[in-house]
Amino acid sequence: MISPRNAPSDPLAQLSADAFHVCPLCESLNLAENQECFVCGWQGQFDDDPYLIEERLYDLLAECPEVLGLIGRAGRRPTLVGRVRDWFAGLFRRRLDLRA
Ligand SMILES: [Zn+2]
Repeated sequence: MISPRNAPSDPLAQLSADAFHVCPLCESLNLAENQECFVCGWQGQFDDDPYLIEERLYDLLAECPEVLGLIGRAGRRPTLVGRVRDWFAGLFRRRLDLRA
């Protein structure tokens, strides 16, 4: 267990790679609980290599810096994964709404 004093300064380190996996088709980061890629609809085996997941997280931050805001506020609530899940759900809804 990591005490707050010893927590890594990198906010991404607070995210567990176990919470994600990567689509082998489009290389999109998906929540581990997703059985279907939210981008391309892939259903099957996902890549759960922690190094690849970390790389995709950094790519995601480069494309969507607002995610860092979610991570930065994580200390106020215990469910960081829940916040990221909410963000993914919003992203999924936006991608489905072709009028947006
Ligand atoms: Zn995909």
